Amino acid sequence: MINEKEAPKVMEEKNPSVLPANFIETIINEDLKENKNNSRVHTRFPPEPNGYLHIGHAKSICLNFGIAAKYNGLCNLRFDDTNPSKEEVEYVESIKEDVRWLGFDWEERLFYASDYFEEMYQFAEQLIKEGKAYVCDLSPQEIKEYRGTLTEPGKESPYRNRSVEENLKLFRAMRAGEFEDGSRVLRAKIAMSSPNLNMRDPVLYRIQREKHHRTGSKWCIYPMYDYAHPLSDALEKITHSICTLEFENHRPLYDWVLEACHIDPRPQQIEFARLNLTYTVMSKRKLRELVEKGYVNGWDDPRMPTISGLRRRGYTPESIRDFCERIGVAKSNSTVDIALLEHCVREDLNKRAPRVMCVLRPLKVVIENYPENQVEMLRAEVNPEDLGMGFREIPFSREIYIEQEDFMENPPKKYFRLSPGSEVRLKHAYIIKCTEVIKDEKTGEIKELRCTYDPETKSGMSQGNRKVKGTLHWVSARHAIPAEVRLYDNLFLKENPDDEEDGDFIANLNPKSIEVLESALVESGLIGAEPGSRFQFLRQGYFCVDPDSTSERLIFNRIVSLKDTWAKMQKLRA
Ligand code: ATP
Ligand code: MG
Repeated sequence: MINEKEAPKVMEEKNPSVLPANFIETIINEDLKENKNNSRVHTRFPPEPNGYLHIGHAKSICLNFGIAAKYNGLCNLRFDDTNPSKEEVEYVESIKEDVRWLGFDWEERLFYASDYFEEMYQFAEQLIKEGKAYVCDLSPQEIKEYRGTLTEPGKESPYRNRSVEENLKLFRAMRAGEFEDGSRVLRAKIAMSSPNLNMRDPVLYRIQREKHHRTGSKWCIYPMYDYAHPLSDALEKITHSICTLEFENHRPLYDWVLEACHIDPRPQQIEFARLNLTYTVMSKRKLRELVEKGYVNGWDDPRMPTISGLRRRGYTPESIRDFCERIGVAKSNSTVDIALLEHCVREDLNKRAPRVMCVLRPLKVVIENYPENQVEMLRAEVNPEDLGMGFREIPFSREIYIEQEDFMENPPKKYFRLSPGSEVRLKHAYIIKCTEVIKDEKTGEIKELRCTYDPETKSGMSQGNRKVKGTLHWVSARHAIPAEVRLYDNLFLKENPDDEEDGDFIANLNPKSIEVLESALVESGLIGAEPGSRFQFLRQGYFCVDPDSTSERLIFNRIVSLKDTWAKMQKLRA
């Protein structure tokens, strides 16, 4: 982050309004200063449609679309669909939905790498004609053996010096489907002795008879990522091609392809550190395994770090964008505490979510001195953080439910909730006192409490302000609506579930990552709550109505509890 003192220097530069927020923006500012690319800024987000997007992709989306917005530039959505065997239309649709939901707009710039197959093929013929590519008949195993290692140079393929004519003929025959899958490849002719393994005559095209989700069976040869990506960027006139660090030593190949194809001006590849989160796996391969083997209930399971999972859990797009901004963009890998993500959604919902009361594990309370058939409507603020959100009415009556854990028959010292003979305030209502505990004769289980209330202690009344230490949430028995509430914990037990020291990441799954409470009771005002709507349940956290919820059966997902470990840690550090 640049500090305020450095601002004036930047202000004088070409693009006066942009203070760099990270090293990528510093590079862009330099480029603008030099009028590179005619001062255009054009980025792209290039997902491979082989799975659903996750929170790591959100970082890349916010970065690419964010830079375009900041610099008055453009950002494309491009499907990197060069691998027909793993890709599906379902993934394409989900990716579009997720990018839109996050709040970004590719306008009319939706592209597919497969749209460029013909152009890429033509570039390949050109490379052959210029002696920069050749058809190689080595088997995949032999290619690997000939490649050498980090310490030993590679060995040249015996097919490396085929004539241009022979190469052209063979490559055309590859396209025409005259050879078996895997029997030949097209390779770049670079250098088998390069210290960079990616430069040792990398494969550009492979033969693969597989139906493609867009081109069908038109092609039986497919370009490799390292060849297709720079050309796709070039064809879309991308200026800054932002990718994650693992591509750093592919950059010489990226540049080689562009140069060999005489692309000018060339897009520039810039690498940044990918997002890792504690208690989370992020690779699509692993997420797919969780889905396919049934460890979770689909890609949008609220425990998944996918965008669709976070959405179903109840995360807001604003909170995810805020998270991506806070984590910043750096050049070295690190792992972000998942508590920060939770902190962001708490902060967002604290401002916006209506407050309601929900009893998760009900315990009945009869208020013996309250008139039998009386119902009283109590007034409560919808959100104390924003009184503009108005007030709601809550019914109060003789029989209510409180939380089982808010009562103890033999409390320890400093227990400020309810116990025999003690007093607590019912939120927005009265002070009650416990007079009797009714138990099941056989099991000894507490069935019900008998209490009295003090009519002089109504909340909000001037004489009602007698102080007691505990305040409990509650619902009126006659009015409350039954609901199912799903509580979540981390999907993995270990901070780094990818650390395979003690086995597979699957072994680190948290067997208690979900708890379903079937007999919760919510305040009557929640009748008909729409799927996707979010609330704060007093003392219990933020919750979101699940899409499977119906007017007969309300289902809530807990987004986060109210306990903010991240904020607490920051305070301790300060
Ligand atoms: P995964 O390793 O999870 O399968 P990927 O990199 O293969 O992801 P792509 O569909 O190729 O997934 O990614 C699209 C874009 O998102 C790429 O530019 C990639 O660099 C970026 N991206 C993927 N994962 C992360 C991450 N964890 N943090 C930041 N950016 C990411
Ligand atoms: Mg990938």
